[in-house]
Amino acid sequence: MAEQTRTEQRETLSIVIPAYNEVGNIARAAETIRSIMEREHIAAAIYFVDDGSTDGTWAEIEKAAADSGVKGIRFSRNFGKEAAIFAGLEMAAGDCCAVMDCDLQHPPETLVEMYRLWEAGFEVIEGVKEDRGRENLLYKGMSALFYKFMSGATKIDMSRASDYKLLDRKAVDALVALPERNTFFRALSSWVGYKTASVGYTVQEREVGQSKWSTVSLVKYAVNNITSFTTKPLQLVLILGVIFFVLALIQGIECIITYATHRAVPGFTTVILIELITGSIVMLSLGIIGGYIAKIYDEVKGRHRYIVAKTLGITSRRDGHDTF
Ligand code: UDP
Ligand code: MG
Repeated sequence: MAEQTRTEQRETLSIVIPAYNEVGNIARAAETIRSIMEREHIAAAIYFVDDGSTDGTWAEIEKAAADSGVKGIRFSRNFGKEAAIFAGLEMAAGDCCAVMDCDLQHPPETLVEMYRLWEAGFEVIEGVKEDRGRENLLYKGMSALFYKFMSGATKIDMSRASDYKLLDRKAVDALVALPERNTFFRALSSWVGYKTASVGYTVQEREVGQSKWSTVSLVKYAVNNITSFTTKPLQLVLILGVIFFVLALIQGIECIITYATHRAVPGFTTVILIELITGSIVMLSLGIIGGYIAKIYDEVKGRHRYIVAKTLGITSRRDGHDTF
């Protein structure tokens, strides 16, 4: 069946799997997914995107390509999961594309459910975390805050969103055509619109290898995605500015009245407090604005999202390193 899928039948479903130092997971993922797809008679092709791994991940992908015909894309260095997802989507040839993690924390069985919904006419099928798996309290709290913010910005409930999705060709083309370099796949897939459905899944335990996220990288990820997707923090600066302007006006009027009635006492504390508050607000505002200017700078440079070093079994027009 796999052989037949490759030679006679064009793939209907492309499965994009970003992989960064996942040496122990490639064969496992390829095998598990392939057997499920075969059982369900879905003509699927797997695209492993090696995000500049420093272990034997690429060798594993080559092995899987020889064994079961998976396709591979290797980055010249680590460009991050977002870039890997987009590279996979750009090169995928199927009528629909799914994105899932390499560590099988996204249960492949759910993919079948998503695929059936696609067959029923849905164009964006979102994987929704029913149970977030084991996470520590601080992580839970921070991510709740982040998603609350993102949900406000996107007007969609993001609290249980994940990168586990299946998209119709139309949605994939729309995403791939976006000119921006700083992307947030999780939110963009609903931003494109189309007929949407969601499927709940339980996050599985990671069995092999370690999570690639550290606290610092998660904070960076959150800030990056907020600034990529929304200008709300800039509006916040404006609101703070207005509030403080009103307070300053009141204080100013009070000062004049005190002066006029000859009751002027040295209001030292007030002065210091005001100085401190305005000072910090100005610094904060400048920081936020600086963040956005940095984003503009990044976008204006128009650099490639990623650089491909090698590909395996890819025949798309974007083959090779010329990815844009
Ligand atoms: N990943 C990637 N590039 C990176 C970090 C992670 O392609 O720089 C991949 C990783 O190989 C995995 C997926 O993104 O397939 C999710 O990563 P991980 O399991 O570390 O994240 P978690 O499940 O802990 O959120
Ligand atoms: Mg994981």
